[in-house]
Amino acid sequence: MIKAIRGMRDLLPPETSRWQWVEQVAREVFGLYGYREIRLPLLERTELFARSIGADTDIVGKEMYSFPDRKGDSLTLRPEATASVLRAVLEKGLDKGAGVKKLYTLGPMFRYERPQKGRYRQFYQINCEAFGVDAPELDAEVILLLLDILARLKLSETRLLINSLGCPECQVKFKAALGLFLISREGLCEDCQRRRETNPLRVLDCKSVHCKEILKDAPVIRDYLCPDCAAHFARVLALLKHFGVAYEEQPRLVRGLDYYSRTAFEVVATGLGAQDAVAGGGRYNGLSQELGGPILPAIGFAIGEDRLLEVLPRDLGQGNEFKVFLAALGEPARDKAFGLLQELRRCNVAAEMDLEGRSLKAQMTLADRFGALYTVILGDRELETGEAMVRRMAEGSQERVALQDLTTLLAARARE
Ligand code: AMP
Repeated sequence: MIKAIRGMRDLLPPETSRWQWVEQVAREVFGLYGYREIRLPLLERTELFARSIGADTDIVGKEMYSFPDRKGDSLTLRPEATASVLRAVLEKGLDKGAGVKKLYTLGPMFRYERPQKGRYRQFYQINCEAFGVDAPELDAEVILLLLDILARLKLSETRLLINSLGCPECQVKFKAALGLFLISREGLCEDCQRRRETNPLRVLDCKSVHCKEILKDAPVIRDYLCPDCAAHFARVLALLKHFGVAYEEQPRLVRGLDYYSRTAFEVVATGLGAQDAVAGGGRYNGLSQELGGPILPAIGFAIGEDRLLEVLPRDLGQGNEFKVFLAALGEPARDKAFGLLQELRRCNVAAEMDLEGRSLKAQMTLADRFGALYTVILGDRELETGEAMVRRMAEGSQERVALQDLTTLLAARARE
């Protein structure tokens, strides 16, 4: 038997109802904040990710699904969405004109990571990207939007971690100080020994317990922010406070991608174990130029949908839909039921029936499995009297309903 690829899951019903609910809520909130959907290819040129995410990151160095196409061009299954969104924005000129350009996208990402709980090789993100404005008000608004989505999904046990990574000038000074600190330390992992030379910021993102221990005394970027970046960050924090958002400043938060500047943030959820980040994001003011575009300040975030669904209460979004089962005995009753079936669906009532001529008992079992709220029982006698027996499955109570009123009655109850 052929099996699914390691780290790539099948999402099955009824679990998919919860996914649909999460996505529906996110779409609604995006709409309220003025975002519109963009849909992008899953494949891009490898160069796009190498140039944007950064050659020294784990993602580009170890985790990309890259392969040559039939002409030998190197393509990559997207490991994240921001680079693709920006590529499309620049290519299609969506950055033109005044004001903030707001886009969101949903879909799968691919990273060759070691699979474990909350970490998959194909995982799903809900992405938010806003372009064209550097004002700290936009940073605050984007964070409020993220928290709004999580709150509507009834995710309560979360912490918002936030930092500022400064602008390139702040980063040059900070990297020099951090590099100096790291040179004097023994025992960094192999990756970090290399990174302290090439890109010391990346060392802050190392998962090794030993490296984390060494970093406890490392300099923090907060002390290297230029006056503009410091003021920008102070304003973001003041706005969050104003809106009653609890945040924790994390002076060593850098995130796993190189393109961030100024505000960077993460939302972690309790109850997720090691992989506890449900969402992360930040500003990436320099990325457009990095990709050959104009100066284009930008900020965004990604919610990890897989992890989000693991922490959300299981009973939410299960979709206790109004469903009707038609149990029919005998050829004429089955014909009648088949007609009623379509009539009910036309009136927005989810309906199902047995198509294989089973016994009444077997049909009642099917009705249960279907999750029917009501089962309509039709036999020769019901056709004669023109009245069907309607059974409310939960209580087992029954009522007689004229066949001609059946659809109207059930459609009205479905709307209640
Ligand atoms: P990133 O794109 O690395 O900033 O990640 C944003 C969010 O995506 C994280 O907070 C996670 O919730 C989720 N995420 C990242 N990598 C994975 C993965 N391999 N499996 C599941 N979720 C992931």
